[in-house]
Amino acid sequence: MQIGVYPGSFDPVTLGHLDIIDRASRLCDHLVVGVLQNGSKYPMFTLDQRIRMLKKVTEPYGNVDVLSFDGLLVDFLKQQDAKIVFRGLRAVTDFEYELQMAQTNHSLYPEMETVFLTANVQYSYLSSTIVKDVLVHNGDISNFVPAPAIDMIKQFRR
Ligand code: ADP
Repeated sequence: MQIGVYPGSFDPVTLGHLDIIDRASRLCDHLVVGVLQNGSKYPMFTLDQRIRMLKKVTEPYGNVDVLSFDGLLVDFLKQQDAKIVFRGLRAVTDFEYELQMAQTNHSLYPEMETVFLTANVQYSYLSSTIVKDVLVHNGDISNFVPAPAIDMIKQFRR
């Protein structure tokens, strides 16, 4: 059984994230979405809120779980018995950091592999930061986030 982990801050979940979850869930038997507890110092959404939103939008997937983690990703992988990490690549700007992370993780845990999925062109401009910027100015986020999360995002925003 091949278990994969898709780690991130998901502050909040976007359509770009959901596209990666959808594709990654077909590439492994079981996918764990790993929500980083302290990814950013000032998240707009609490860990619990980010998890609730992800659980809601991944409800239709029978092989996807949402869990939080803190500390090293490789420790979380070992704990979940997973050897594959999925990451999304939007543009060259993502590349340098992602390469560094993948190489560091591989060196800490040689049995693991990082698999990069290229962002869907439709969502390649999309980030949680963009969603938060639009939210702060009371803009319409419906083209950016999964429909089942919209009400939660509006209710939780601070
Ligand atoms: P992190 O703080 O770890 O970068 P994010 O929540 O911003 O966490 O992103 C998690 C993962 O999803 C990263 O691999 C990121 O490159 C990827 N990602 C973010 N936005 C998109 C998008 N629009 N399309 C595809 N992948 C994306």
